[in-house]
Amino acid sequence: MMTFNLTDQLKERNLSLTAVRLAVLEALHAHPHSDAARIFEVVQQRIPTASIQAVYNNLNTLVEHAIIREIKPKGMPSLYETRIGDNHHHVVCRRCSRVMDTDCRGYAPCLSPADDHGFIIDEAEVVFWGTCPSCQKTTPHRSKI
Ligand SMILES: [Zn+2]
Ligand SMILES: [Zn+2]
Repeated sequence: MMTFNLTDQLKERNLSLTAVRLAVLEALHAHPHSDAARIFEVVQQRIPTASIQAVYNNLNTLVEHAIIREIKPKGMPSLYETRIGDNHHHVVCRRCSRVMDTDCRGYAPCLSPADDHGFIIDEAEVVFWGTCPSCQKTTPHRSKI
């Protein structure tokens, strides 16, 4: 059972509720910030006949229709999530690539460019890079070396 209203969003946009599409959405809801390979693994557990291409196609369609969000931290594959439209940001661990959500501090955009070149700015995409708590424990902090 879907505990969120994504099925309604699919219907509103006239997207068919295929088994693979629903499995992709449920996998993403359960595992936010997953890449396509991870989503494929989760989907395959339920639908063994699902192909990686079908998963990619569904991810692209869902991004195009703004039902899911794609984030692309530098040096990492595209990651996907069902939490959209709130201009939240991400903290990313440089060592283990763990990704966590962090709320936007205020109204979007929460950062103002020094020069907007006449653009109407509606979003600031921010990635905070650092070292997550478990990596801080396993590896000495650079400043202490
Ligand atoms: Zn880490
Ligand atoms: Zn997120």
